[in-house]
Amino acid sequence: MSLVVMKFGGTSVEDATAINRTASIVAGRVAAGKRPVVVVSAMSKVTDQLLACAAAASRGDRTGALALSSRLRSRHRDTAAALVQNPKNCATLQTSIEHEFDALDEILRGLAVILELTPRISDLIVSYGERLSSAMIAQAFRERGLNSVHVDSREVILTDSQFQKAIPLDALIEERCLLKVRPHLDAGLVPVMGGFIGSNEAGITTTLGRGGSDFTGALIGGALRAEAIEIWTDVNGIMTTDPRICPDALRVKVISFEEAAELAYFGAKVLHPATILPAVRRNIPVLVLNSRNPTNEGTRIISLAPHCKSPFKCIAVKKKLTIIDVVASRLLMTHGYLKSIFDIFDKHQCPIDMVSTSEVSVSVTVDSNDKLPAIADDLSKIADVKYEGQKALVCMVGEDIRGQMGISARVFTAIKHVNVRMISQGASEINMSFMIEEEDAEEAVRSLHAAFFQNPDPAIFDIENRLPAAPPLTPSTPSS
Ligand code: ADP
Ligand code: ASP
Ligand code: MG
Repeated sequence: MSLVVMKFGGTSVEDATAINRTASIVAGRVAAGKRPVVVVSAMSKVTDQLLACAAAASRGDRTGALALSSRLRSRHRDTAAALVQNPKNCATLQTSIEHEFDALDEILRGLAVILELTPRISDLIVSYGERLSSAMIAQAFRERGLNSVHVDSREVILTDSQFQKAIPLDALIEERCLLKVRPHLDAGLVPVMGGFIGSNEAGITTTLGRGGSDFTGALIGGALRAEAIEIWTDVNGIMTTDPRICPDALRVKVISFEEAAELAYFGAKVLHPATILPAVRRNIPVLVLNSRNPTNEGTRIISLAPHCKSPFKCIAVKKKLTIIDVVASRLLMTHGYLKSIFDIFDKHQCPIDMVSTSEVSVSVTVDSNDKLPAIADDLSKIADVKYEGQKALVCMVGEDIRGQMGISARVFTAIKHVNVRMISQGASEINMSFMIEEEDAEEAVRSLHAAFFQNPDPAIFDIENRLPAAPPLTPSTPSS
């Protein structure tokens, strides 16, 4: 059976028009003899708005939280009405939407009394986004003649209990896929599931972290041994950099798993960092495609990408980082000293992105977070500590930088006007990363893009559809 997982992101299901487009894309795959499993995100911005509801309720703003929730209720109600014309089906769907929002409002009222938002309650609240979108989209597909069925992902994606960033339990997911998804496929149905959400073994709702619907798609694809995992989004594929920063960014036609994993980890939002893992394990190609331009061939992520004449495939940028400098005279090389530093980050469950050491100091970079004062406090017991936020990490990725002479000189010449704080060339030898001030990030990416993608290899990059570069003084657009 040529099974394919099709994951549609928030913009691909943002309103009735987008959902209709999605239905046509899925119908096209069915007509071509494929068996799709569809994974959908919440409608665009809904997750942010649910988090805003939770924040308002937890500071006691009951009215504000319920007003926000009421706006979300209307948006789902209106979209359902536009999608489902059959009066009986529409009434059933509307009733279930009302029930979901009534339950959400109960939680928000309770939260406004308790005034404490735990990660567990936060996951329960944000889960409504994907629960609502997936049920509505399954019904919309049926209205368009697609034989589809809604499957609650919380019965399939079993995870541990680390709320907000739960770790999937692969063996159980595989069992559940065989039990809850495979029979529908065998019956010729198209299962529609919400991304991002799961549950622990006690049945409590968890989530896989922001952007986690890509990960859901890959987990299901891996468990069901799909022939491909398709990530449908709002751009033509993985581009040479974020097109919001460089409108002349080029589509990368093909890229390796290893390169895509580096890019995703270092900030290319187009893919959730964990997406690649289940695909690598089973050697399943991942395709990144544009739901607004479905005939475009997108980006193919495979285990071995062909040789590329250009050194880099892509530039990623990750903002909102903090550099922590730990300075201890003469102690640094003492046995166990680095361990004691890293143990502190471990204790606070704070992942480190980049590390550099000198004779007396260790500098690390982490995502800016509210644990930093406590981490600095612990570190100050063994050394002098200072930390500075508003930093950005620029990461240039390409397998073909291996063994290229003079590549660092070319990189740093291109951004010689920018103050570079830390430099790292990963052990994988396929990325070069450095830290700069956040305010310099977009300009640095544009300069690097202009320097390295002037004459791109046409076998790897889509040069035919190149758009003009942004004029140099264009005000910058935020990238998240
Ligand atoms: P979805 O809602 O479909 O999951 P996301 O917003 O998570 O979509 O990811 C798509 C966005 O990722 C694009 O609109 C683009 O601005 C951003 N992006 C960042 N880096 C890249 C890149 N290298 N290639 C393509 N898109 C990128
Ligand atoms: N809706 C979730 C988010 O916005 C998951 C996703 O869209 O991938 O983070
Ligand atoms: Mg995404």
